[in-house]
Amino acid sequence: MTPDEAFAKLARSKFRSRFHLSPEDRRYIAEKGMETIRSHAADFVRDRLAPANPPNDGRQTPMRGHPVFVAQHATATCCRGCLETWWKFPKGIPIPPERQARLVDFLMAWIKREYASFRCQRCGACCRIPNGIVRVSDAEIARIAAFLDMTEAEFIDRETLLAPDRRGLVLRSRPDGACVWLTDDNLCRIHPVKPDKCRTFPHKWTNPDSHEICPAMRDPWRAPPNVCHTQN
Ligand code: SF4
Ligand code: SF4
Repeated sequence: MTPDEAFAKLARSKFRSRFHLSPEDRRYIAEKGMETIRSHAADFVRDRLAPANPPNDGRQTPMRGHPVFVAQHATATCCRGCLETWWKFPKGIPIPPERQARLVDFLMAWIKREYASFRCQRCGACCRIPNGIVRVSDAEIARIAAFLDMTEAEFIDRETLLAPDRRGLVLRSRPDGACVWLTDDNLCRIHPVKPDKCRTFPHKWTNPDSHEICPAMRDPWRAPPNVCHTQN
């Protein structure tokens, strides 16, 4: 069975198909990188799944807390019972190293597919977060000012405010809370030089509400392919 055939089979399960990477999982992947996630997957498979009779079998994989755990539940590789039911690998015998490697490949294929599945819907909600702020560093101020053909002093004076905690500067917002650089059709007027916070949302910079704010995070599989408003 190819990974695509396996994913199609899993997609028919209501239970399996409800698992998705959370904003925290995405941030963790962005911080650690795929190779580190792969090494964690290999460790989990070797230690928690591969022994003939893994300790605590059936409950050895938490439902959340690591992208690999989520991938294991999504792919029915979370315990020996699921492995036997779904993938016909019998309980009671150790999983050989080559089969462990295939399991890790499968888990990583799911994680990469899910991670890449994010499709921005260009709703602009992330630029309209109530009471949201976008801090700007000195380097960001310099590059935005240059892009706008302004001096840094002019940009600071006209386009920034003191942060609420008085530690640094933030971009100005409109009275409705939207960023002043957001256009009516949800594009960013300073996209090529936008602050890193904007550039890395929602993969690296995120917050506990991101999945509520961002429709593409809420339902990444169903979101239609699109380009991020911040890429225009
Ligand atoms: S700078 Fe651009 S991407 Fe960032 S909040 Fe404003 S409009 Fe959105
Ligand atoms: S990143 Fe999310 S919230 Fe921001 S525009 Fe795209 S879909 Fe909307």
